[in-house]
Amino acid sequence: MTPSAARPPLVERDAMLCRACGREGRASEGYPCESCGTFVCLVCTIRGVTRCRNCVEKAKST
Ligand SMILES: [Zn+2]
Ligand SMILES: [Zn+2]
Repeated sequence: MTPSAARPPLVERDAMLCRACGREGRASEGYPCESCGTFVCLVCTIRGVTRCRNCVEKAKST
């Protein structure tokens, strides 16, 4: 392995990309998608979105 460029140490920032709305949300405040377990932010959860966009689309088509 080649020595990679110095990676910044993990900052205390638990931002994750919400798979339902596409925005960043806090991993510690969001919930996993009911179907696949991917991150769904708190805002979406409050709105009643419990699944990521992919899973919602899948549910629609069935
Ligand atoms: Zn969201
Ligand atoms: Zn999902």
